[in-house]
Amino acid sequence: MNGAVRPWADARVHVWTEVVLRAASVFEGLRGYWNEDESRHYFVHLDRHLRRLGESAKVTRIPGCPSAAELREALGELLRALRYREDVYARPTVFLTEGRYTSSPSASDAGFFMPVFPAPRESTIDTGVRCGISTWRRPGDDMMPPRVKTAANYYNLRLARMEADAAGLDEAILLNGAGKVAETGGASVFAIRGGRAVTPKVTDSILESITRDSVIDLLHAELGLQVEVRDVDRTELYLADEVFLTGTLCEITPVVSVDRFDIGGGTPGPVTRALQERYHQICRAGKRDTRGWLTAGPVLD
Ligand code: PMP
Repeated sequence: MNGAVRPWADARVHVWTEVVLRAASVFEGLRGYWNEDESRHYFVHLDRHLRRLGESAKVTRIPGCPSAAELREALGELLRALRYREDVYARPTVFLTEGRYTSSPSASDAGFFMPVFPAPRESTIDTGVRCGISTWRRPGDDMMPPRVKTAANYYNLRLARMEADAAGLDEAILLNGAGKVAETGGASVFAIRGGRAVTPKVTDSILESITRDSVIDLLHAELGLQVEVRDVDRTELYLADEVFLTGTLCEITPVVSVDRFDIGGGTPGPVTRALQERYHQICRAGKRDTRGWLTAGPVLD
């Protein structure tokens, strides 16, 4: 936090800061896969995540975002200090302490923190999730840009998640202002129908997801599917052979039902399974990475 490795209990901010009062922060979610043979972590698309952090900070005018080199260095230092020998999740966050928008919006003082946690494989990657279409919409780029990964955006997503929870479902899929499929609170949405894949466009009120790009590429280049990037209707999800969610944390998560309609046979489908297998192979390739997806962490003896 703010340039030093600190004990958890000492990582504090004051209550009277913009980050606490108005959720003024931007962040990233990084995933590091532990490679036992090489005794080190490999982070997936690290540079792209660090670039997106800077982009989110730019749009929200939050100063003080560390450079990619500083962030990589901080991550290495933390991994050496924590010595986790398992998969991890890191969450670099740049936050605003000063800059009350009503009286002094340009007075800005920023801070930085990055916790690293163990991140075991989610059980839903195997079982799949039951989704509901939320009554809450993803806002437009002219309201609260979903392209930007700012904490404030996540209250919209929390409302949707709480609604799904109250309905006895696992996850919410939000539509955008035009009533087309947008995304979930932490993932992009894909559907397979008649051998074709569809997914919303980056201008459909979604985060410019990094996993989404990789999955579009894998579906096309490795599984031989035609991928349509276009408006997606909710009923296309109901009628799909397969639906799945993609994201750094949830990886490739099957969707087994939408609004209680079973998807396909109500169990994860063959394209989803094949994609999961390929995605995991690549993420766990370690030094055999041929795609340039992976960045090595420090060797931990
Ligand atoms: N949408 C939202 C709202 C998210 O929080 C995430 C997770 N970062 C994603 C999509 C997936 O993005 P990525 O593939 O870059 O992790």
